[in-house]
Amino acid sequence: MKGDAQLESVTCHRQRSVIRKQVRSMFRFLAASILLLSVLPGLWAQRSQLKPPWNMYSPQTDVRLGKQNADLLARRLPLCNDPRVDSYLTQLGLKLVSKLPTRGVQYPWEFHCVNSKEINAFALPGGFVFVNRGAIEVADNEAQLAAVMAHELSHVALRHGTAQASKAQLAQGAAGIFGGLFGGSTGGALLTQGVALGAGGILLHYSRTDETQADVLGTQALYDTGYDPRAMAQFFEKLEGETRGKNPPQFLSDHPNPGNRVERVDEEIDKLGGPSANAKRDSTEFEAIKREVMALPVVKSPVSEVAIAPPPPSRNFTDYQASLYRLNYPENWKKYEEGGSTTFAPEGGIAPSGALAFGMIVSVSQVQLDATDANPLESATRQLIQNLQKTNAGLRVARDSGRVRLNGEPGLSTYLTNDSPAGGQETDWLITVLRPGGLLSFLCVAPSVAYPDYEKTFTAMFDTVRLK
Ligand SMILES: [Zn+2]
Repeated sequence: MKGDAQLESVTCHRQRSVIRKQVRSMFRFLAASILLLSVLPGLWAQRSQLKPPWNMYSPQTDVRLGKQNADLLARRLPLCNDPRVDSYLTQLGLKLVSKLPTRGVQYPWEFHCVNSKEINAFALPGGFVFVNRGAIEVADNEAQLAAVMAHELSHVALRHGTAQASKAQLAQGAAGIFGGLFGGSTGGALLTQGVALGAGGILLHYSRTDETQADVLGTQALYDTGYDPRAMAQFFEKLEGETRGKNPPQFLSDHPNPGNRVERVDEEIDKLGGPSANAKRDSTEFEAIKREVMALPVVKSPVSEVAIAPPPPSRNFTDYQASLYRLNYPENWKKYEEGGSTTFAPEGGIAPSGALAFGMIVSVSQVQLDATDANPLESATRQLIQNLQKTNAGLRVARDSGRVRLNGEPGLSTYLTNDSPAGGQETDWLITVLRPGGLLSFLCVAPSVAYPDYEKTFTAMFDTVRLK
């Protein structure tokens, strides 16, 4: 059956040629695909996916903590108070935010300009962003300002602040730095203002891994909003270059250099498909805002935002004995004895002026009382408040005095308000008792925004008072 074999051979030849054609067209398709992918590497290389670090707090805690601290700071920091600048920062910030993954969480996003020449910008958990005029002035163009903001906003989206706090809490145990009086409560209540912002404040100090994540996510946000993503590394390089030989700004100690910043940002830009030719670098609006910021009056001695936010009171108390009384106070507070009074205050609780911002002053004062006075405690307390008003012009009685018992003795409880040396208003809780040696007064002091947290400590201290 040769003929058949020939026929078969022809058929085979035809089939082979069909197969060859198919293979050739498959190669052509592959070549075209590879060409296409090299033209559009954005499709080829996947952008880095970022996984937020482990966090024991809820996103709602981020918002609550951020809001508390932002309120405290907005009163304490010299703000630019320029609606055009704030609105510009808000527009720019929201544009970047719209490209950031927040895993379904709605953050309240607030943007403030701070009238400080120091090159700094920071974002509290929950999206409360503060940009110093110094950061706007040092930026060469809008892309660089967008870069530093995108970096900050990425820390918020990845919840790095409370992740750092989670790590610290795990390391220190439940009764550690956050324990204080709130040790038994749910995680959210554990963090107070002091923890957030005190020297080495946990919420604003990031790890090198956090830094790389914020660089990468920030680079993606810059790219997605049409800015030149190279501005991310440029801004950080510029900062390090400008501060060489000088004290590095707070910004660089809060955001430690992860080492290969430029390389990692460049790598991400490659994955995104390279910088686009028409990427936005500057705008006339930015130039106008920069000129406006540069013309703002300079605040002589801007209050350092971290100077007097103390660590939270310890839950462990230590004993103090005086001639008229004894009491226990948090063991991480110090006592200062002067004249007839003793001040109990945390590290950083006393302003450079010597005024108490956080803590308690116990004093004995001599009062002139009429033997016929039907209410000697009320009269003595009134005299004390009048004396205090001589050196505290802003001191006002906020709530009429009420009768209390202190260690079984009749006392008077009065709430006052005053200007806080920490900025804004403070709440003062005064308890007075008459003793044979004079009027014994316990004056508890904290900025009003922080007061609810401190009142628990003051109450616990009062429970330990023993009058002699
Ligand atoms: Zn950072």
